[in-house]
Amino acid sequence: MNGLMMDKQLMISSILTFADRNFPDREIVSVTADNPSHRYTYKDCFSRTRQLANALKSLGAEFGDRIGTLAWNDYRHLELYYAISGSGMVCHTINPKLFPEQVAYIVNHAEDRVLFVDLLVWPLIEALQQHFSKVEHFVVLTTEANMPKTQINNVHCYETLLSKESDQFEWPEFDEKTASGMCYTSGTTGNPKGVVYSHRSTLLHAYAGALTDATAPRSVDVVLPVVPMFHVNAWGIPFATIMVGAKLVMPGPKMADGETLQYLMESEKVTFSSGVPTIWMALLNYLQESGKKIPTVKRISTGGAACPLSIIERFKHEYDSMVIQGWGMTETSPLGTIFSLKAGMEDYDTEQVTKLQSMQGRGIFGIEMKIVDEDNNSLPWNGIDSGALKVKGAWVSNSYYGLSATPGDPDCPVDKDGWFDTGDVASIDEHGYLQITDRTKDVIKTGGEWVSSIEIENAAVGHPDVMEAAVIGRYHPKWTERPLLVVVRAPNSEVTSDAILEYMKSSLHKLSVPDGVEFVDELPHTATGKLNKLAIRKMFEDYSFE
Ligand code: ADP
Repeated sequence: MNGLMMDKQLMISSILTFADRNFPDREIVSVTADNPSHRYTYKDCFSRTRQLANALKSLGAEFGDRIGTLAWNDYRHLELYYAISGSGMVCHTINPKLFPEQVAYIVNHAEDRVLFVDLLVWPLIEALQQHFSKVEHFVVLTTEANMPKTQINNVHCYETLLSKESDQFEWPEFDEKTASGMCYTSGTTGNPKGVVYSHRSTLLHAYAGALTDATAPRSVDVVLPVVPMFHVNAWGIPFATIMVGAKLVMPGPKMADGETLQYLMESEKVTFSSGVPTIWMALLNYLQESGKKIPTVKRISTGGAACPLSIIERFKHEYDSMVIQGWGMTETSPLGTIFSLKAGMEDYDTEQVTKLQSMQGRGIFGIEMKIVDEDNNSLPWNGIDSGALKVKGAWVSNSYYGLSATPGDPDCPVDKDGWFDTGDVASIDEHGYLQITDRTKDVIKTGGEWVSSIEIENAAVGHPDVMEAAVIGRYHPKWTERPLLVVVRAPNSEVTSDAILEYMKSSLHKLSVPDGVEFVDELPHTATGKLNKLAIRKMFEDYSFE
């Protein structure tokens, strides 16, 4: 017997129609390349989104077409999110900071027909344009007055395109499993791979993100997503916040700029912000130098890389802001786990709470997880055993664009039992809190034991003279591998390796204390701001402990 409920499909456009009816006056504030302070309402946004849907049609784009975006976090990118997916096309967000050849590879692989390009990214796209095999139109995200001069045909001005269109558009309803968005993984192991989200997965993920024990944006919140809209849908914030009617504040190209972030936080009364730890480090450094405050910011969510304890403590003690750490990946939309306390922890003292915050959070309904040993046997949740982390869920990839969808195939990310192998190594404690210790490929095996490079890096950055630290395994004749610590000193510091190692001994097991320290001026990062371990290993490929 079937249930007798409406067969209403979960559509991204339904967020917009709901919000239009319920929160028309809520504000969206953006920094853009052509306007440092743009401000309008949900109502304005959705009216322009309908004009944009008509403009896409006028350009000849059709249901199922991939439409690329190379843009920062701002109102035009938001309009693109909703107009493209809402029309049944696929919003393919592309990271403008990737190497040019990777951008060309991704655009061609996805067979993008139209590219929407931020003014600041236009020079990159103009230089690459003859390498694009399927792109028919380029649209520069600006006004006619700011349009760049170009010899290329089919380059349009975004604002001019919109101005020619009606703001009447009926959002179509179709199968909720239809692709809505696409984002390529960073490709540290081979070519980037296309993760394809659906309307169903995106809406379920937005609901999960809005759970009280998850990121929980509320209507009264003012949300500043510093996590980029060009990577994993800014962690779903453009959907979850609009769904609940929160005010959105977007930093445009100024994402890594502590001064702009502080300014926006204070002037717009931001209550909740999300970003990777390097962003928070930049903001904290700016706050310290300037003596400025972020009085209304109560919650800071972080993920994408392990969050050093020092960030959590500084936000808590100096700015009264709570850091909420989560774990996820492009393939998990990205929400996998997130921090919140459980019943029974009400009396935890600051130290106990901080320890939990420095872990990667606990499971949320919708994602199943397990850790397994080398023979794929499940390991106990005891906080000690660690193994490969596998997950399952309605917003987890079961295939990559153009690759096999048959579980167990080498091209397919899902094993024959239906579990997605995350490539992370983790332990899970008895309360269900996850601790990521490494990427499988970054694990350091010393004398038969695994040591966690993340734990060592976190211990190192706790030293006030260490600005950034990375740990890699290097050959050792007795132990096979031992950890080498690579450090960027804080400005004007002349701290010695002995001082750093001495400091680390207080918090690390003997086995985890590095055997050597090397100082560098800067560390290489991937386009999503993570330490590029591949490049760091290359820098020290001749280094050994012999
Ligand atoms: P990319 O594929 O571009 O590297 P992802 O955002 O998909 O980017 O990266 C996902 C990976 O980032 C995870 O598999 C994990 O290794 C790491 N990661 C994400 N969140 C955390 C976290 N809170 N702590 C430690 N590592 C994390």
